[in-house]
Amino acid sequence: MSDCFVVAIDGPAGAGKSTTAKAVAEKLGFACLDSGALYRAVALLLVEAGADPSDERVVGPLLAGVRISQSADGEQTFLNDRNVTSLLRSARVSDAASRSSALPAVRSALIELQRAAATGEGLVVEGRDMGTVVFPRAALKVFLDADEDERARRRGLELGLSGTAKLEKLGAEMAERDRRDRSRKVAPLRPAEDSLVLDTTSFSLQEVIDAVVNEVLSRKKLAK
Ligand code: C5P
Repeated sequence: MSDCFVVAIDGPAGAGKSTTAKAVAEKLGFACLDSGALYRAVALLLVEAGADPSDERVVGPLLAGVRISQSADGEQTFLNDRNVTSLLRSARVSDAASRSSALPAVRSALIELQRAAATGEGLVVEGRDMGTVVFPRAALKVFLDADEDERARRRGLELGLSGTAKLEKLGAEMAERDRRDRSRKVAPLRPAEDSLVLDTTSFSLQEVIDAVVNEVLSRKKLAK
């Protein structure tokens, strides 16, 4: 990992992490890792097996021998060589990912896979514990946040949802998942001490992308 410039982006659901990470990676010619999709692939495995996603005793054995991988641009995720990308964003998988990601067996099964992605010139990683646990020595750590209502609005747009009732339901589900992420014992969601915290509530996506790219370029210049 030593020569790879790692940009770690963390934050709650709907803060714009995925879109920002992908755009920053593309602009800089870096690889990209969507760690949430890896947790979602584990969740899909559990949902398909009919397992309780909160029960460590069932989850541990199910994970043994399972292969999870992702394309270098973070866009495609594979479970035992099956491309499962289109199955990962359902409400059922989201809920199971939020529960199973609190289990130490799940987190430790994915940690080396994430670190192994840091091989080339640069890597943008996004998730909940990129800067605190997986890449504590990342060259740049960013914590993206935004108001709860704004985050629900953005996620609603992404999912093509409209109408107050649907957005309120989505907002409530997201708030519950964030509460779980922030309060779990292992790798809770929080900004790393040395992270750049950006409240993006009133920022456009382009402004966020530019802010991160500029920060990378100025740190690279300093490192020369
Ligand atoms: O980012 P995304 O919403 O796709 O992540 C799905 C779930 O995976 C989150 O709700 C969170 O509980 C979990 N997750 C995590 N650690 C990460 C990335 C995601 O616990 N680094």
